[in-house]
Amino acid sequence: MRTRFAPSPTGYLHVGNARTAIFNYLLAKKNNGQFILRIEDTDFERSSKEYEKQLLIDLKWLGLEWDEGPDTENQPYGPYRQSERFEIYKQYTERLLQEGKAYKCYCTPEELEKMRQECLKKGQMPKYSGKCRNLTEAERKKLEAEGRKPTVRFKVEEGINIVIDDMIRGKVEFNSSNIGGDFIIVRSEGIPVYNYIVVIDDFLMKITHVIRGDDHLSNTPKQILIAKALDIPVPKYAHHPLILGPDRSKLSKRHGITSVAKYREEGYLPEALFNYLSLLGWSSEDGKEIFSKEELIEAIDISRIGKSAAVFDFQKLKWLNGIYIR
Ligand code: GLU
Repeated sequence: MRTRFAPSPTGYLHVGNARTAIFNYLLAKKNNGQFILRIEDTDFERSSKEYEKQLLIDLKWLGLEWDEGPDTENQPYGPYRQSERFEIYKQYTERLLQEGKAYKCYCTPEELEKMRQECLKKGQMPKYSGKCRNLTEAERKKLEAEGRKPTVRFKVEEGINIVIDDMIRGKVEFNSSNIGGDFIIVRSEGIPVYNYIVVIDDFLMKITHVIRGDDHLSNTPKQILIAKALDIPVPKYAHHPLILGPDRSKLSKRHGITSVAKYREEGYLPEALFNYLSLLGWSSEDGKEIFSKEELIEAIDISRIGKSAAVFDFQKLKWLNGIYIR
């Protein structure tokens, strides 16, 4: 088993992401596998080195250790930062273009917006019209001469049933007709997008299990289509429910502290936070609450992670921290 935590360094480590990292870590360790840290930093406007540095500090403070990552000596499938892997992605894009599974699209943002509005006017879901799908070489040349910088779009065949055999949610089905048409995999500045490169990286890094929040479930059909087009195996997926606040809305700062660094500053012990986050969303068979890291590795079982969202209980975390302090 090889699992990964793939944060985007666009902010401080949130307890929700920390919990995803912990699940991935515990499951890899339970199965004598490896836990990999990959930095997904292709959103250049929002990513920063400072956030990346802080992420690593917070993860280490929590007690997570990764077998491979941007700072490890052992880097068999590196680099582990997406911003350093553009040459790799380029080769895959060339391949998709050559095989006719992707194409260059010259539509401007204004033209795309117009298409979108037209769909909405007709009461339809916005969908790329496929305008640039079958351009001739001459048409392409002409558009390029106009100074247009193309994006690369992935061809989505209509009417394909995509089944995700999710380890937590069971079978989830999507129809490719509902994806929104051919989607962009490389932006006009040459920057490839998350849904595309995550597939390449998980494959090249030999990831066997993708365990992540169910906010990503709607991305998975696109990722499966890309894997199929590249003829690479699909990892096993497990989409866990997100954490809710006591009022059952998505956990956010207005409910209380949500940043791992802030808990540290407030005097929480890493073992207490680790223990608390590990048990959020599943329970041990005998209802035991206090677990060391080793015991958690022993006890974790993906089939016990519930399908319904877990509510963050600030008081319980405080209580647990008290026990650890004493
Ligand atoms: N970079 C993505 C995020 O932070 C990772 C999603 C995934 O695990 O595939 O949400």
